[in-house]
Amino acid sequence: MFILGIETTCDETGVALIEAKDEEIKILKNELASQIKIHQKYGGVVPILAAREHQKNLPILLKNIEKDFDLQKIDYLAFSVGPGLLPALVSGKEFVQDLAKKLNKKIIPVNHLEAHFYSVTIKNNIGRWQKIKKIMFPALVLIVSGGHTNLYLFKNWRDKKLLGMSLDDAAGEVLDKCARALNLPYPGGPEIEKIAKNAKNYFSLPKPMLQRGYFFSFSGLKTAFVDLVAEIKKFRKLDEGVKSDLAASLQKTIFEILTFKLKKAKENFRVKSIVISGGVSANQTLKKIIKKSFPREKIYFPQRSLATDNGVNIALGGFFLLSLNEKTLEAEELNIFSR
Ligand code: AMP
Ligand code: MG
Repeated sequence: MFILGIETTCDETGVALIEAKDEEIKILKNELASQIKIHQKYGGVVPILAAREHQKNLPILLKNIEKDFDLQKIDYLAFSVGPGLLPALVSGKEFVQDLAKKLNKKIIPVNHLEAHFYSVTIKNNIGRWQKIKKIMFPALVLIVSGGHTNLYLFKNWRDKKLLGMSLDDAAGEVLDKCARALNLPYPGGPEIEKIAKNAKNYFSLPKPMLQRGYFFSFSGLKTAFVDLVAEIKKFRKLDEGVKSDLAASLQKTIFEILTFKLKKAKENFRVKSIVISGGVSANQTLKKIIKKSFPREKIYFPQRSLATDNGVNIALGGFFLLSLNEKTLEAEELNIFSR
């Protein structure tokens, strides 16, 4: 079975093709147009520009797939219906509706956050059923991205309970905004990771709402970080050394908060595996901290290329939902939802 996955929730335009067979799922195409350069000068994603870029990029990415694949062979279109930026989603929706009508195919609506979870089923571009079955439920699932910090308990592939989430900024958003204070380009997460490697000293930063169940709050940490940078600048130059120390301290603080909440959830719920996904999960330091904190647990991270937003995750989501007998939609039945 061939599924085309389309992702337009934020600033990545993704169109991907997967083939699902009895024993494995294969990525045939993973077309991605990053809008980083467009949004970089604003220090964050501008929704209306994202929408315009999706409109421009979607036909180009589809053409790349069409070059060596007959689109009529597609069985279903999977589309990420949200949560995301409304103008960006509208562009995607219109494109998918037109395509569904043109090809006479049905659409599988995919929740973007669930798709981040499904992404961990792929290793080295292949999902093998034998391995996928080893992801045991109940699973504790943490989605950490530019838009979300959500902690879920998945009882099975579909049945999820939201335990907690960030009440203000998402973890990735804080990395992005704090990177700006260090004059680092957008997206800040990878930049912070890069320079943090040279850190020699650590600054102490607050961990807001640590004791408040499974909810997160990062805006106080962001403010404390920006204030600290301003304070340091008053009496010394923000050189590479101090920038590294600041970056490492910020990363460490955020990751310790995430780990603390995961540990708490692990104590209170009997889970058989832990899944960390979303853009921030690409971070090697986070991986190390998590693995060290849960030495005996089964832990799953997505492969590097599937951590941030892409069309493969959505196609995969479509396939899982189809396997679970989820309803497929006609073009005009398609709906989207923002954050
Ligand atoms: P997503 O929203 O899932 O596309 O992920 C984008 C977010 O992930 C942005 O906030 C990035 O700064 C963040 N991110 C990407 N790579 C890394 C990394 N290596 N370390 C930390 N954050 C990252
Ligand atoms: Mg995402």
